Amino acid sequence: MRSVEMRTEKFTGSASRRCKSGILDLIWTEAVRHTTNEVRPGSLARLTCYSGVVIDERDEILNAFYETGAYLRGHFRLTSGLHSPEYLQCALVLQHPKHAEHFGRLLATRFQRLEPKRPVDVVAAPAIGGLIIGHEVARALGARFIFTERDASGKMVLRRGFSIESGETAVVVEDVVTTGGSSREVIDILGESGAHVIAAGSIIDRSGGTADLGIPRVALKTLEVKAYREEDCPLCREGSPVVKPGSRPVHAAH
Ligand code: ZN
Repeated sequence: MRSVEMRTEKFTGSASRRCKSGILDLIWTEAVRHTTNEVRPGSLARLTCYSGVVIDERDEILNAFYETGAYLRGHFRLTSGLHSPEYLQCALVLQHPKHAEHFGRLLATRFQRLEPKRPVDVVAAPAIGGLIIGHEVARALGARFIFTERDASGKMVLRRGFSIESGETAVVVEDVVTTGGSSREVIDILGESGAHVIAAGSIIDRSGGTADLGIPRVALKTLEVKAYREEDCPLCREGSPVVKPGSRPVHAAH
């Protein structure tokens, strides 16, 4: 563990001011329940309560988020519709190929542990969040990579000539799982094509391990992050404007 002073000093010098302000009241409890069936030796020692600014420096996943400014604080509307004072902007950590590649390898290893004798033919991910990490997982597995996207009616579909052959083995990858809704839609599309979907995975599981996709699931980090229904949201009650991360343009349209 690093001391409070050391860590604060580090973030004072960080490029991300949001990280600096956020780190001071960071209160995360890592979920005790893991989403995989695997029991890692020494896993209890790795469970850390992120209270105040004390961070386990061995936690390479969360550290990558902090160090790249990918941990944001504010008032966010998540894809699930829930409101949260915290947001993990995976795009900011994945803009660094070294992190994307490393996370991809770690997830690939988790999938291989689940089904050691069954090579994965295809990795599928929902666009846009799953594109980079899905591609890196596919690279690590030696599989091909396809993605789904929403059509004009909002239905998740395979386009661009992507197809799955019946009997192919597949895994579904997302950057962050909150309710698992997007992954579930991809799983359904693959299932309709006759693929055997082995498992689903994400870099971050924000559900505390509760999201149920009906198939085995892995995550590099399982967290319980505060999230509220709009009617229960204390930030809304304070009149704070809510932001949908990722959809807000940085610059005005030209
Ligand atoms: Zn709110």
